[in-house]
Amino acid sequence: MMSIPQWITATIAALPRRHRLLLSGISALLVVLLLLPSEPATASRQSANLDNQQTELEIGKRYDLSLELAQAEATTPLEVSVNTTGSAPTAGPEQQLNWTSHTVRSGDSLARIFDKMGFTPQQLYVLTRDAQAEKMLRRIHPGETLRFARDDNGELAQLTYQLSATETLVVSKEGERYRSDIETKTIESRPSFAFAKITSNFWNAGLEAGLTSQQIMSVADMFGWDIDFALDIREGDEFSLLFERNYVDGEFIGFGKVLAAEFVNRGQVFQAILHDNGQYYTAEGRAMRKSFLRSPVNFTHITSNFNPRRLHPVTGQVRPHNGIDYGAKTGTPVMSAGDGKVIASAYNNLNGHYVFIQHGERYVTKYLHLSKRLVKNGQRVKQGELIGRVGATGRVTGAHLHYEFLVDGVHRNPRTVELPQAESLAGTELPRFRGIAEQRLAALNTNKRIYLAML
Ligand SMILES: [Zn+2]
Repeated sequence: MMSIPQWITATIAALPRRHRLLLSGISALLVVLLLLPSEPATASRQSANLDNQQTELEIGKRYDLSLELAQAEATTPLEVSVNTTGSAPTAGPEQQLNWTSHTVRSGDSLARIFDKMGFTPQQLYVLTRDAQAEKMLRRIHPGETLRFARDDNGELAQLTYQLSATETLVVSKEGERYRSDIETKTIESRPSFAFAKITSNFWNAGLEAGLTSQQIMSVADMFGWDIDFALDIREGDEFSLLFERNYVDGEFIGFGKVLAAEFVNRGQVFQAILHDNGQYYTAEGRAMRKSFLRSPVNFTHITSNFNPRRLHPVTGQVRPHNGIDYGAKTGTPVMSAGDGKVIASAYNNLNGHYVFIQHGERYVTKYLHLSKRLVKNGQRVKQGELIGRVGATGRVTGAHLHYEFLVDGVHRNPRTVELPQAESLAGTELPRFRGIAEQRLAALNTNKRIYLAML
C-alpha cells in the first residue's frame, strides 16, 4: 500500500488535538477498520482488494467488520455493516407501553418492589405463577435493575430483568396470565489492533498499548516457547496483536480472544495465529506449544540478568558454567520446563536444594539453589507445574535459579537449543488453517502498516 487511505487521514485530522496526540503515541491502542481480502489471496492481490474496498467507504463513518471464521472458506466477502443495534425490549405491537425502572436496593424484596412501583400483591402473585419467572426473580441482587411496563389501564404488561450481559428475562402478560422468556442477545466480536514497542520492559509496553494484564500474559504464553521473556527481551523489540473486543447491542462488554500476534525479538520475527481448535500455530501450521518452556521462571519475577561469568567466591576462578542463571527473589516460583519425572530432589553443599527432571529418553532439566523443593523423587510433573522456589542455597553469592538443559547427557543452551515440538497441523486441517491464517495475518499486517504510517 502506497499511502494511508485518505479517509483515515481525514478522520484523524477531524479529531480534537488531544485525541490526535493520543493516536500518535507510539503504543496507543488502535482500533481501525480491518480490511480483509474477500478470498484467500496473495499479498499483492490483497492490496488490490483493499484499495477497491476503500473507495466504497465514506469518510467519517465508523465501520465494523465482523471476522467470521466459519466463513473463512466461503466465497462471500466479510460483511461490512454500519452498526445499527440497540433497541428497547419488544412490547406488544399495537400497545403503547409506559416503562419505568427500579434499581434493587439491599433489603428489597420482590413484594416491596411491587408495592413501591404501585402494583398489588395480587399482580405479583399472578406473575410469579410462571415457574421460570418465579425462579429467576428470586435471584435479584442489590444494584440490578427491573423494568416495568404499564399498559393503558395501568396494569403490568411486561417486566424485564437483565440476567447477564447477554440474557434478559422478559415476563409478558398474555390474557389473564404471564409468560416468561429469556431473550438472548448475541455477542458481536469486533477485531481490534494494538501495537507496542518495548522501551523499558515488555510488561509496561503492553500496558502502554492499552492491553490488559491478561492479554499481556497471553502474549507471553503464546511466544513463551520460542522467546525467553525473562532474559531475551531487548529495547526496540515490538509486538502487535489482533484481538477481539466483544459488544452486546453496541456496548463494549469485554475483550475476547487474541486472533493473531507477531513478536519481533532482536530482529527475529515470530508469528502466532489462533486456529479454531483454540491452539496457536505458526503461519505454516506448526504448533507454538513446544515440549519445553524456554524459561522455568515467569518473566515478571526476574530482577536482573545474573552475571554467569562471575568469579567463584571460594576458588576465585571463573567456574565452568553449564547453565543459565535467573536472578529472582527468594521464594519466586520455579516451574518444570516440560512434562517429565523427577529423578532427584535433594540437597548438597554445592547445589543447595536441587531438583532434576527427566523428560522422555533424551532430555534432563536441572534446577539449583532452591529455597524450597516442592516435588519428591519419582514424582511425575507437568509442564509449568510448580516444583520449587528460588533461593540462595549451596555455593552462591545471591538468590537466583541456576537452570541446566541436557540433551543426551550433554549441556545445551536452553535459550537457543532446537526444542521438540508439540503436534503440528496435518491432513485436511492444514489447508483449512492456512485459509484462516492468511486472513488473520493480512488483517494484522494491514493494521500495522496503517498504524506505523500514522506515527
Ligand atoms: Zn549458575
